[in-house]
Amino acid sequence: MATNRTFTMIKPDAFGEGNAGAILKMIEEAGFNILALKLTKLDKATAGKFYAVHKERPFYMDLCDYMSSGPIIAAILEKDNAVADFRKLIGATNPKEAEEGTIRKLFAKSIEANAVHGSDSDENAKIEGSFFFSELEIIND
Ligand code: GDP
Repeated sequence: MATNRTFTMIKPDAFGEGNAGAILKMIEEAGFNILALKLTKLDKATAGKFYAVHKERPFYMDLCDYMSSGPIIAAILEKDNAVADFRKLIGATNPKEAEEGTIRKLFAKSIEANAVHGSDSDENAKIEGSFFFSELEIIND
């Protein structure tokens, strides 16, 4: 059964260019409730842990460098059908392929610096949310 939570990060390119407010506004206007929110900066080892599933991919080291290059905002979001609806809101990984009006189409710079992360399954949403937030940091009512 689909749960109603997903996990997102506003990535260093989007935060660094001052787009965090606009992106959070789009997220709220799309009907997502913010259950947890944190501004932080990953070091390379922590970015590597978060993206461990990609460690065999050729872009893994670049991705770790990029994700530790500046502050990020991590958040847990709530909405019916959260994972799928959020993936729709952010658009394709490669902004060149992202639909008009999606967050990546509007704000991403490249396939790597693509403005936002969105979990790809309910299972990963839970794992990724727990990577950044303890239960006490998540609004639960
Ligand atoms: P996502 O689920 O849409 O975020 O895409 P993936 O899980 O496939 O990839 C994770 C992240 O790795 C992406 O969001 C990008 O930041 C980065 N990435 C994906 N594909 C490439 C690529 O071909 N080259 C580079 N440099 N980075 C990539």
